[in-house]
Amino acid sequence: MDNVNNAKRELVINWHITEACNYKCSYCFAKWDRQKNEVMNDEAATIRLLDEISKLPKILNNSYPTDFNSIRLNLVGGETFLSFRKVSRIIHHAKQRNFNLSAITNGSRLNDELIDLIAINFCSIGFSLDSLDNQTNLTIGRSEKNNPMDVMKLSEDINTIKKLNPDIDIKVNTVVSNLNKAEDLSSFIKKIDPDKWKIFKVLPIITEENNISQSDFSQFLDRHSEFDSIISSEDNDEMTDSYLMIDPVGKFFQNSNTTKGYIYSRPIIEIGIRQAFSEIKFNPEKFHGRYKSNYIDVFELG
Ligand code: SF4
Repeated sequence: MDNVNNAKRELVINWHITEACNYKCSYCFAKWDRQKNEVMNDEAATIRLLDEISKLPKILNNSYPTDFNSIRLNLVGGETFLSFRKVSRIIHHAKQRNFNLSAITNGSRLNDELIDLIAINFCSIGFSLDSLDNQTNLTIGRSEKNNPMDVMKLSEDINTIKKLNPDIDIKVNTVVSNLNKAEDLSSFIKKIDPDKWKIFKVLPIITEENNISQSDFSQFLDRHSEFDSIISSEDNDEMTDSYLMIDPVGKFFQNSNTTKGYIYSRPIIEIGIRQAFSEIKFNPEKFHGRYKSNYIDVFELG
């Protein structure tokens, strides 16, 4: 019970630290027109943004019936770990501000150094995995220089992280589209035994191309019902207006159910987080829904 209450008091902010990614998934929504001035490239800007973020629990507690007492910064991309040096810098400054840390990654850059960094500093780490099949991963775009992601290596790396930090929460994020809707991912899930498996229906906001029906999505969930206790699934209605998300240049942004694409604030480090927060459409009831059920997380990334 205490864990649940503590989780409820943790404000989770999803910071998309970079747009860059070594994969090219067709449904990827992490696209902001290749803006050059990503906050993570500049240490002073990184510090300013983290300082602004640290003010947010108080601002929310004053405006809503919330009682946030800590922050978890969820680092997402693009691919979160493309630049070891820059992400190490973010981790250092976030830890100085007592933020808890989590991230979502495609796992492609995992090596001994990165595995240690994650195991030491993160309370939770999520891996994006849509398919166990090489050809499907190639078609989805989960490949680099025409080499599909190495699913076997990923499962071994995840188990190494768990050995180094048995308390770390392991998550898997899966996007179900027309390309993988018939797959059975059970063998992978059994092998890594994650704490949570988030399954999303592909967002038509990004592309109609590989869209699936609600019935396709339900069949995918039914096929994996033995993992019901760790699965959380979201369809599109639940995925709008309810995440606190910051883009690579430090603006709040949100999906919108009234227009295609995103709604943005102005940059947080230019106008302050109080003003920037007032510029986004925020749905406290949906936010509370996630908050109560302890999953303020982000749609697929990394
Ligand atoms: S791995 Fe994640 S960030 Fe990279 S292209 Fe795919 S969905 Fe986008």
